[in-house]
Amino acid sequence: MIAEAKQVLKQYFGYDEFRDGQASIIEYILDGKNTVGIMPTGGGKSLCYQIPSLMLDGVTLVISPLISLMKDQVDSLIHQGIPATYINSTLSSNEVEERMEKISLGGYKLVYIAPERLESFGFIRFLNTLPIPLVAVDEAHCLSQWGHDFRPSYLGIYQAVKQLHSNPTILALTATATPQVQADILHHLHIPDQFKVLTGFQRTNLFFQVVKGEDRKRWVEKYVQKNHQHSGIIYCATRKEVENLYLFLEKKGFSVGKYHGGMSDTLRQEQQEAFLNDTISIMVATNAFGMGINKSNVRFVIHYQIPKNMEGYYQEAGRAGRDGVDSECILLFSPQDIQTQRYIIDQNIVNQELHDNEMQKLRDMVDFVHTEACLQNYILAYFGEHTDIECGHCSNCLDERDSEDVTRESQMVLSCMLRMNERFGTSLISGVLTGSKNKKILDWGFHRLSTYGLMKEKSQKEVGLFIDYLISEGVIQVEGGSFPILKVSLKGKEVLMGDRKVSRKVQPTVSAIISKEDGLFQSLRNLRKSIAESEGVPPFVIFSDKSLQDMCVKLPKNPDEFLSVSGVGENKLTRYGDLFLHEISAFLKDHPEPAVEVVKPSKPRKTNHSDKASYMISYEMFKDHMDIKSIAKERGMSTLTIENHLIRAFQEGVMNDWSILFSETEESLIESAVSKVGSELLKPIKEELPNEISYFQIKGFLAKNGQD
Ligand code: ADP
Repeated sequence: MIAEAKQVLKQYFGYDEFRDGQASIIEYILDGKNTVGIMPTGGGKSLCYQIPSLMLDGVTLVISPLISLMKDQVDSLIHQGIPATYINSTLSSNEVEERMEKISLGGYKLVYIAPERLESFGFIRFLNTLPIPLVAVDEAHCLSQWGHDFRPSYLGIYQAVKQLHSNPTILALTATATPQVQADILHHLHIPDQFKVLTGFQRTNLFFQVVKGEDRKRWVEKYVQKNHQHSGIIYCATRKEVENLYLFLEKKGFSVGKYHGGMSDTLRQEQQEAFLNDTISIMVATNAFGMGINKSNVRFVIHYQIPKNMEGYYQEAGRAGRDGVDSECILLFSPQDIQTQRYIIDQNIVNQELHDNEMQKLRDMVDFVHTEACLQNYILAYFGEHTDIECGHCSNCLDERDSEDVTRESQMVLSCMLRMNERFGTSLISGVLTGSKNKKILDWGFHRLSTYGLMKEKSQKEVGLFIDYLISEGVIQVEGGSFPILKVSLKGKEVLMGDRKVSRKVQPTVSAIISKEDGLFQSLRNLRKSIAESEGVPPFVIFSDKSLQDMCVKLPKNPDEFLSVSGVGENKLTRYGDLFLHEISAFLKDHPEPAVEVVKPSKPRKTNHSDKASYMISYEMFKDHMDIKSIAKERGMSTLTIENHLIRAFQEGVMNDWSILFSETEESLIESAVSKVGSELLKPIKEELPNEISYFQIKGFLAKNGQD
């Protein structure tokens, strides 16, 4: 049965292999077992019900919380040659009737609805006239109060499904479920524990970064300047912040949109579509934006303020890189934001137990900011998955900055606070330390304090940021709501007494993500955009960035080769094959140079052009005895990209001494691991090997043996 499913995977979706978890879920479903699938965002959950829907008789019902998701998914399915539709409140009653008629005639394999529709007797009666082999419950965490998007109508799903005469199998899917939420899903949907398929939450293409004590506006400005050709989302905690940052970026001339609950439906819809269609690059939004946004080529997600919990954070950050291409998730932290989140929780949650639960979640979120360990591992551990293997590319793993001793400056701040009787906030304290002539300072007589002007060589803003840093280190504690007061903590007292030192790392620089993009990729992107415009769908519905990248690597010359591109199924070949093949061949005629800097290690190409490609630059730096981390830093690229460059240098025969990569013993260890678990996936190979053997070495081994 699974072999047949694999054929469907290739024919309709253009992929050769199942991803982790997909095959087991599909097998359970085809066997009629109620199942829950917990996979990270971008893990490929949709295929888990889309493939069975094509193999089972009748129509599969998909319950999805958001209308925008339905439209995107249906558009994508239609482009893959799969008949699908949705019924929701955006349709007129005539349209609903037409669609229901076509459903009755067996015209669709999948129908998307919102959970509320199951509350209508009329609709259940209608469903009972249909053969329904499968009900897929998307975003299943919405049925748990302990989750972060609780939706009461989800609690009625099980009873409604039980009323259906076809006795459909249930498949629940979610990306963000703590163990507590998982238990809730199993319980409510009556799914036995043995049919829980939990894949790793790890998203290896996401590079996490926490930035503390920076001037956020400047930081964002510099970042989007460097990454202006990419799509990204910037999440703010409040509508007001969205408006502020949006205006700021718009004035600076960036291609930016905004989205929050205070805008009209029409305006929100317009902005969302402009973002999906790549008409605007950056979306500044509250967390109202995004659930159900299927855009796969989001290259960065910046949190302008700390979110209220890890579930929300990982879900929002996880909207980056759904296509598997390297992407960045950056959290800009300022301690005052904790107050904002506390305030929001205080205002919105009256139930004491839920309130305490939310506060605990906020504390876990704050710990994420302060941890010095691997950020990816912190996230995984939060969701119950413990591992010792560090991601190697988050801001903590890459942090090699020297620390400077700032104990003396800390003591200046703390003693100034004590002299001001610990009754003021950052701005007044920094004013006193820098010798400001602010009226309030003079009125209070603070200009007579011995600490007045003690740090006058710094700007008030710099001192303010330093105070933020001391708060994030727990040396200063914040009390009060809207007008926070700063107090010296226990840790701070030890600093004052000289019993504890404070050190601070040199601030991180703004990084530019994603490798340099070349002309062919850009031409294919333009072609994709013009097709998307003429068909009235978002560009990623036509092809993902990953498919375009694969075209740049494989440079297909005929329909057969085009079919080997990741994400090209038969329908896409028929619809777009000629257009893209023509574009590629025209480009190669005009540019007889290698086409692209690949992100993934590629097989040696059969061209004999020599270029000063990016990988050669990395190779030359490596030859000059620079280590990978330093090259990555210098070039503003990820270590992963540099590793891939070096592997390519091996493959192209430029670098030929493989013993730089692994010793003979290591090589034979990797060889026996590969012969045991195969070369399909890196993770199982890594797990077979001692910790010291890195992913880089494994990739090198596979490349050497032509198996990448
Ligand atoms: P999720 O719903 O889990 O966030 P999606 O179902 O949207 O993820 O899939 C994310 C991306 O991965 C899509 O572009 C999808 O086509 C792709 N994908 C899914 N399964 C596979 C597979 N087996 N091989 C390659 N790509 C896949």
